[in-house]
Amino acid sequence: MESKTIDKSNIDSVLSDLKAYKEQLWINPHKKKYSEAIATLEEEFSILPTLDDIIEADQRLRRFAPLFQKLFPETIAKNGLIESELTPIEAFQRSLITFIGGRIIGSWSAKLDSHLEIAGSVKARGGVYEVIYLAEQLALKSGLITISSDYSVLDSSEARNLFSQYTLVVGSTGNLGLSIGIIGTALGFNVTVHMSQDAKSWKVELLKHKGVEVVLHASDYSMAVEEGRKSTLQSPYCYFIDDENSILLFTGYAVAALRLKEQLDSKNQIVDDAHPLFIYLPCGVGGAPGGISYGLKLIYGDNVRIFFAEPTHSPCMLLGLATEKHNAISVSELGLDNITDADGLAVGRASGFVGRVVSTLIDGAYTISDDKLYWLLYMFSLSEHKGLEPSALAGFTGPINLFYDTVGFEYLLENNLLEKMENAHHISWATGGGLVPESIMTEFISRGEKTKIEF
Ligand SMILES: *Cc1c(COP(=O)(O)O)cnc(C)c1O
Repeated sequence: MESKTIDKSNIDSVLSDLKAYKEQLWINPHKKKYSEAIATLEEEFSILPTLDDIIEADQRLRRFAPLFQKLFPETIAKNGLIESELTPIEAFQRSLITFIGGRIIGSWSAKLDSHLEIAGSVKARGGVYEVIYLAEQLALKSGLITISSDYSVLDSSEARNLFSQYTLVVGSTGNLGLSIGIIGTALGFNVTVHMSQDAKSWKVELLKHKGVEVVLHASDYSMAVEEGRKSTLQSPYCYFIDDENSILLFTGYAVAALRLKEQLDSKNQIVDDAHPLFIYLPCGVGGAPGGISYGLKLIYGDNVRIFFAEPTHSPCMLLGLATEKHNAISVSELGLDNITDADGLAVGRASGFVGRVVSTLIDGAYTISDDKLYWLLYMFSLSEHKGLEPSALAGFTGPINLFYDTVGFEYLLENNLLEKMENAHHISWATGGGLVPESIMTEFISRGEKTKIEF
């Protein structure tokens, strides 16, 4: 049989599809075997957390569990652990197949970070972690706690007086600001969130209601971040949370990998060479999917395969990886407008740090139109009775791309995966939606219902 190999490195065709806002699946030609990739990364990035560092981060989060239970009653049910369900989505899988025909082989689950406690999005991992890290440092130094204290003592006027001397500053398209704003003000910090003018008004209102200072910028997200960064340079009492480069955010996100392993183990879900794990992660600047991927790679090595998902209007990570220019190229250089309803994903320039880290680790990236996000949102609410925000649906065309796109099929074939797919497990990371007001969710769903899409 003649075998046809698609030239994955044909950058011209990748770029021309990106320029045309055309959905595409891109297979990463720079991916390396895990052992080689990690050896090079360790040499190149001395700051990368080790598995021990990630375990320590998990323990730090657990030390705060008694405090979380006091400040956020919704965490009581899980004893103060901030963790989401991993839920099978057979009903969704069946509905999709009915609509598009054919088959998606393997079992399929959603990781519902959309319903994470405190912030209702994946940002409850990184954002909360960075803030509690800082709070712990300050409280230890001031003698309010020792490492073995019951941290619920930090729900006190002494602790609030201490934390209120500090201002946390962050630039955000929405959800990171929500996460830092909610946890920061609950602990007693002052919080300033820099957002672009097009930030959703319910997010701005919620933050203001929490006592957060919101600064709206006429220009885009990168500018909002830059303004935020600049404003903190003068004062030692200002702490800038850097979405693009923070190793603490990255480490907080990576804790998800430990938690996912626990969940898969408890379901007796095997991950090995014969039972590959496929993860599909919505990507904005890259921190959340980057940290999660990195953690999963440390645990599962070559047996986990990862795809990043981006809106067709903001494919900054795919662009940076495919051109190997990382943060030295922006989607505006392709003439793209970076306008999408997918909050958190409307990013024109990816994190250079994350891009370089994931470039040898992940299997690929793909793009998805806003129409499809809305349609999937509607289908998901209909079949799984859960409300997600549009960005969270980006991970849900991952398995479809593998089975219905020739590039995906070639990828499965070339990697000897076809015969293993019966045993494969797909996980789409649902990254946000828990805090969306009901009236807005109703609008999302009815918009999805009216949307006509084609696969
Ligand atoms: C922030 C966010 C992402 C992506 O995270 P990045 O760190 O920006 O790549 C995905 N989905 C939602 C809902 C988000 O808020």
